[in-house]
Order: sequence, then C-alpha cells, then structure tokens
Amino acid sequence: MSKLMVSVSGVRGIVGEGLTPKGVMNFAQAFGDFVKSGKVVVGRDTRVTGDMMKNAVSAGLLAMGCDILDIGICPTPTTQLAVENLKADGGIMITASHNPIMWNGLKLIGSDGLFLDAQQGEEVLRLAQQESFALVSWDKIGVAVHYSKAVEEHLEAILALDYIDVTQIHARTFRVVLDCVCGAGSVMLPELLHRIGCEIIPINCEPSGRFPRDPEPVPENLTELCDVVKKEGADLGLAVDPDSDRLALVSEKGEPLGEERTLALAVKFILTKKSGPVAINASTSRATEDVARAAGSKVFRTKVGEINVAKKMREIGAVIGGEGNGGVILPDIHLGRDAPAGIALTLQHLAEFGGTLSELNSTLPHYVITKDKVALGNIDPQAALAKIQKKYAHENLDLTDGVKIVRGHSWVHIRPSNTEPIIRVIAEAPTEAEANNLCAEIKGNF
Ligand code: MG
Repeated sequence: MSKLMVSVSGVRGIVGEGLTPKGVMNFAQAFGDFVKSGKVVVGRDTRVTGDMMKNAVSAGLLAMGCDILDIGICPTPTTQLAVENLKADGGIMITASHNPIMWNGLKLIGSDGLFLDAQQGEEVLRLAQQESFALVSWDKIGVAVHYSKAVEEHLEAILALDYIDVTQIHARTFRVVLDCVCGAGSVMLPELLHRIGCEIIPINCEPSGRFPRDPEPVPENLTELCDVVKKEGADLGLAVDPDSDRLALVSEKGEPLGEERTLALAVKFILTKKSGPVAINASTSRATEDVARAAGSKVFRTKVGEINVAKKMREIGAVIGGEGNGGVILPDIHLGRDAPAGIALTLQHLAEFGGTLSELNSTLPHYVITKDKVALGNIDPQAALAKIQKKYAHENLDLTDGVKIVRGHSWVHIRPSNTEPIIRVIAEAPTEAEANNLCAEIKGNF
C-alpha cells in the first residue's frame, strides 16, 4: 500500500512509501499559501517519524513566510485548542491518529481550531497539486518559536469546567489503569489524573512512539489493559489512541465497554447538567440517541468525520456531540474530539453515580455493534455502494453517508473509509449474533 490517503481528515501514508519528506513539504507549502503566510501552530504525536515530518512541515511553512508556534508533542485536541487560544491562522497536527506505527500524516486545522472541511481541504489539495508556490525572499522567511504551555492550558480549561468538581472526584480516589499506547496522551493524561486525585497505574505511558500493540483502542487491542485492571483490582481502565482524541473505557471487571459507550455515557452525564441538542455521526450507536432523547434532546445525525459533526454542532448550538469511536466533543472546551475532556467527564459521572463503572454502563440501553471491513483491492467503492443501494432499495435506507440500512432496532452502515483503503461495514442490533449476521450478509455482496 503506497498510496497516499487524502481526505477531509488531512493526509496519511506509510512513511517512505506514500508519504515522503518532499510530499509533506509540498502539503505544508500549500497550507502556507492557504493561510496566506500567517501564523501556524504545529503539534505532533510521539511517532518516531514525527521529527522528520516536523522538519519537512517547518521547511514548507517557513519558506512560505509563515511563522510557527511549535507546541511539541501533545494530543490533537491540544493543538486545535492552541490554534484558537493563540489566535493563529491555522494549525498542523502531525499524526496518523489510530493508524499503525509505519504510518504518519497531517491533520489540517483552520483559524477557528476546527479541521478543514471538504471545501477547504480540496483547496489545499489543489494548491498542493499545482506545486507552484510563491516562495518568499530571504528577508521574509518565517520564524519558528517553541511554545511550551499548550498542554497546561488544555488541562486548566478542563479542570475549570463548572461541572468538574475536583474535590468530589478526589474523594473517591479512583484506581485507574492508564494505557496511552506510548502516544501523545503520555505527556498529558497522567498529569490530568494526578490533579483530580486518582491513583494511577500507568502502562505504555512512555512517550516513545514505539507502540507496543495495534494502536486503535478497540477491545481486541486492549487485552493487556484488561488484564492489569483485573490483577490490580482497579476501578477502571482508560485507553486512548496515539493522538489522544479517542477514548475507550474498561470496567472494574476488566471488560472493555466498547468505544461507543464512552460517548453514550458522556452524553448522559452532560444532559444532567444542561439541556440542548446533540449531534452524532451516522454510525454512532443508537444507545447515544436513546439516551439523548430520553433527556428531551433533539438528535442530529451527520456524515462520519469529526469536522462534519463539529460544524453541525456549531450550527445547532449543541451541548455535546461526537463520534461513536470514542470521540467526545465538548463545546465548552472546543469543537473537536477530546479524550482528556472525555476522561474528566467519565470520572465526574462515576463520582456522582456512586457505583462501579459496569453498574453505570448497565444504565445505558443495550445494543451490540459489530465493526467489520472489506479491503478494497481492485473494488471500486462507489460501484460497490451503488450495487448495495440497488439491491436493498426496498428497505429503509439512510443515504447521509454511504448506505445505511435501518431495520427496526437494527441497522447496518456501509461506507468507504476516509483514512484507509477499506470499506467499513458497521452493524448494530440488540444481540451480537444479529449484528454479526448483518455484517456477514452485507459482506456477501462484495
Ligand atoms: Mg486519533
């Protein structure tokens, strides 16, 4: 796989194959043009290729006359928040998010701290493809400075939230096993847990970028975390992806709740504190929708992709939103998926609830989601989707994003990934067998 994946999420590729220093610099120059040689915040996750990437990004930006605020290794939401706080003209987060260790990429951020939307992303892509940049002369070359307070400012913003009561969380002294997969969470999350009075049992919290496991925080990759929670008799386990925008929870029994429950619990908690609409993507669990409706909130579904949810949230004035892959978006901090904020909400929720995490989880409606995928190979994704749409035309279809077939309490959603050469097949049903059968049925069409 040497192809470069270019999407609304930015650009991702395997380093040395699809992703080269020249290509990265080219994108940075295009972004420098897009922000009209303004001030750009640059952050990165811990990947061992991050330094090479940062140098290529810096060369491209400085050559276009951009000044750089280098905030170092930090979560993606920290970079987004820093763009907003520092009134920058844009931001670049160097990360391939949950992709494996050989990948890296760029997430491009606009002056409002939100990711670029499809239209803005296409403009940057067009500029990158033209490769004719108005490079500045020696006396207008940009200046790069280090800015070391971005993580601290993000921490303080979370702890200053009205509904986070540090004393109340502290009183429970939660024993928490924290798995940062040696990613960017390592530089922030132990400190966050420390400040809210948790007893921390860290695993994979060295910011080395040498991921000890597949970095996506899905249940099958969290066996070590689950084992340590059980062995230590901890209250819960927390796992994030390498750029710490996705959060997964493990109960005191050492059982992964599945990423969908992170958002469902956060929505349930926030709607006890304030009322207002909620925006979630088309693949997010029905449990989240049920919880929001039960609290009297209107629920809006969007296309998959953080920017699509964030823009809808801004439009409707949502009080919370996000994506079912563990991506909690809390507008009181910033309109971006934020695992550190998700952790604070989860622990406050648990402190107020008084019981265990598995008891809290059992207060949510029960559904099982099966997430499957089909490798594209020579398959044309649009043709495959058209075929499925035609075959199931007699059913209740939602075409917000790809094809979603809705059957009573169940649904199956088929859409090409924005970030990988695969088609995602996601099904939700009251039982695991029903969800698995739905995925198998759809996969039979490829
Ligand atoms: Mg991520």
